[in-house]
Amino acid sequence: MIEVKNLKKSFNNSTVLENINFYVNKGETVSLIGPSGSGKSTLLRCIIDLENFDEGEIYIKNKNLKDKNFKNDLLLKMGMVFQNFNLFPHMTVKENIVKTLKLVKKMSEIDANNKAKEVLELVGLYEKRGSFPNELSGGQKQRVAIARALALEPDILLFDEPTSALDPELVKEVLDIIKKLKQEKNITMLIVSHEMKFVKEISDKVIVLDNSKILEIGSSQKIFENPSSTRVKEFLNNI
Ligand code: ADP
Ligand code: MG
Repeated sequence: MIEVKNLKKSFNNSTVLENINFYVNKGETVSLIGPSGSGKSTLLRCIIDLENFDEGEIYIKNKNLKDKNFKNDLLLKMGMVFQNFNLFPHMTVKENIVKTLKLVKKMSEIDANNKAKEVLELVGLYEKRGSFPNELSGGQKQRVAIARALALEPDILLFDEPTSALDPELVKEVLDIIKKLKQEKNITMLIVSHEMKFVKEISDKVIVLDNSKILEIGSSQKIFENPSSTRVKEFLNNI
């Protein structure tokens, strides 16, 4: 579903990603971990075309992301959930989803309403459909943001630290929704998270990034129980 080959990216002559090579198979949940500033967000942003990169290629569903013939279709197949939710503050929960569906998918009002109901029920927030984002807890806001991303029926969902803006007691409700997506939907997920217990439990594969490079890629068990790199051991011991 995702293949990154020899990716290199710099900002103002400072390299923030280099020699990045990995792939994510259909239906897999892959986590991206590593210290702050190691390039995790930039990598996700390159994959969803919010950043340009200098060298290398990104393939989504075996098609080159930079190929103008495919780009728009590929971007419609991907969704991203951000640390700070990015909900439209002046729209209700339902409108956040309905307006997005009408704009992006040109859906009719009736179809968009039905889809909004379906995804809000999935995240357990249908009863909040008339609330505005500022009337919700952080955990609820993030669940709405996930519902909105799901409404577009993506094949791939990217999560950039979905729980790091939340109070500790609200983290679980969001992680539980992501676990539910893994169990019930066949969505390919690439997740940046510092919640190591969650990462260990949910990931089919873990990628450790440090200082612009991939240090190690392995199964969850390998990375957490027997990493090859001492740097990975240090990072996991310090977190
Ligand atoms: P992470 O998500 O792992 O914390 P980031 O991808 O946000 O790391 O950042 C990687 C590096 O790129 C950091 O040194 C950061 O300061 C730099 N960086 C990120 N975005 C920009 C930008 N728009 N302009 C300049 N430097 C940036
Ligand atoms: Mg980041």
